[in-house]
Amino acid sequence: MLLSRFLKRNAPPAGRIPGSLVSWSQLNGRALGGLRHAHAMAPRVVVLGSGWAGFEMLRDLNKSYYDVTVVSPRNYFVFTPLLASTSVGTLEFRCIVEPVRSKTDKVSFYEATCDAVDVTNQTLSCTSQFNGGAKHQFTVPYDILIVAVGARSNTFGIPGVGEHALFLKDIKDARKIRQRVIACFERASQPYLTAEQQREILHFAVVGGGPTGVEFSGELSDFIRDDLSKIYPTLMDKVSMSVYDIAPTILSTFDSHLANYASKRFQRQGIHIRTKTQITTVTASHLVVDDSQRIPYGMLVWATGVSPTPLVQALGKVVAKDTRSGRLVTDGHLRLLHPDCSTPFTNIFSLGDCAGSKDNPLPATAQVAKQQAIYLSKVLNRVRRYSNWSVGDEKPFTYHHLGSMAYIGGWKAIFDPSDGKSKVSPSTNGQAVIEKLDRKQWLTKYVSEGRLAWLFWRVSYFTMSVSLKNKILIPAYWFLTWVLGRDISRF
Ligand SMILES: Cc1cc2nc3c(=O)[nH]c(=O)nc-3n(C[C@H](O)[C@H](O)[C@H](O)COP(=O)(O)OP(=O)(O)OC[C@H]3O[C@@H](n4cnc5c(N)ncnc54)[C@H](O)[C@@H]3O)c2cc1C
Repeated sequence: MLLSRFLKRNAPPAGRIPGSLVSWSQLNGRALGGLRHAHAMAPRVVVLGSGWAGFEMLRDLNKSYYDVTVVSPRNYFVFTPLLASTSVGTLEFRCIVEPVRSKTDKVSFYEATCDAVDVTNQTLSCTSQFNGGAKHQFTVPYDILIVAVGARSNTFGIPGVGEHALFLKDIKDARKIRQRVIACFERASQPYLTAEQQREILHFAVVGGGPTGVEFSGELSDFIRDDLSKIYPTLMDKVSMSVYDIAPTILSTFDSHLANYASKRFQRQGIHIRTKTQITTVTASHLVVDDSQRIPYGMLVWATGVSPTPLVQALGKVVAKDTRSGRLVTDGHLRLLHPDCSTPFTNIFSLGDCAGSKDNPLPATAQVAKQQAIYLSKVLNRVRRYSNWSVGDEKPFTYHHLGSMAYIGGWKAIFDPSDGKSKVSPSTNGQAVIEKLDRKQWLTKYVSEGRLAWLFWRVSYFTMSVSLKNKILIPAYWFLTWVLGRDISRF
């Protein structure tokens, strides 16, 4: 059974014969116009980014077919679904990172930022992360470029957000949040403060009622209730938490029944939900709401969606970009398009949060990024494996939504198996659709909310964690936190 599955997965595309390892230019010569690489047997693939898309490409690309280089300002991958857990100490930071180099004895890695792409000469301008006073810049040539630089937090240009809010995108952000929460409690314990000042410092504000803002609020609520309440019992009547969103409801991408369930749970946990509320200015100590009301806070976490990175903004001059979303535009094969959107670049691909198809924009999620990377690495491996096979011969990428989950605190979660749109994938046959709906109906009925959904949430993310090390560390820390509580040292 295993053997037949292996043979099926590695079968050549219909009508194609496995070829000897010939160069990218031989296979795709009409597209690339010849290799300029001394190591002609292995075209140079440069992957920009070590996030969900970049890291998966790195793992799946066949290193005997390609000479792979990764350029990223961080030398690790972050398992973002569990980032909120690390920001309060439910898990330790190292449980959710994977070093890029551990998978890459055959891959070059530069800890650097790519600033510009010269599509004519096929080179990248990069700036080293190790500046030491001077800016070290260097050039990296490529035959195939994969742009997977993700996105950054969207501040909507609201004054003061960039300077005063904390974000939750990377391990460094989670570390800052954890330090700030504990700092707020220590500061509020100082003997010279009035009760009113303590209240201001112990107001924890979260802007953004999407899954990231909600999961963080749930984790913070657990931390306060389970651990901080025992250490600072006299401060508990001064603590408050609020979630702000401009939309009429939190979790608007989830089924309304589940969003209501989460709102009710939050109310029960004492988390104030302020929807239809616009934050207009942020200062070091206050939020200004709807241009009038000033609300003091001790910590503000900003989780309101994503906007393009500087590289994507710069690339927008040489490739097609969607002016509304700011994302790079790709065709069905994840190739970037020329600025007039008429033809694709044959050797530049983009995936994950930084790109999207104009006709079928997909959500900025890890699921999408990972599936795209699996698809593209398979395609590129096939192009090298079979003679006369090119990217355009492949079926376009199809996304299979696996459902959305959010932890809401108190060992409860919600799980929405629908994608909020069509339940039918265009590539599935009738039978598969029926099976999928049955499975989804079953899941909706039994594990959509509460303790069972939370169990499902934990099992899913444990299963998806990458290395054996983290498969051991994650449940170990869950257990330790349950038995011993979270650490509150600030260093
Ligand atoms: C707290 C949190 C929780 C989340 N939970 C979920 C979830 O439960 N399920 C889900 O599906 N999605 C979730 N997401 C969304 C998911 O993490 C993103 O959609 C996913 O990370 C996108 O992958 P990516 O590879 O496109 O970008 P990223 O993972 O953001 O990676 C981008 C990479 O590019 C690098 N980079 C940036 N600029 C440059 C440059 N100029 N040159 C070179 N490299 C560069 C970055 O350092 C980074 O390594 C969550 C996100 C957050 C923040």
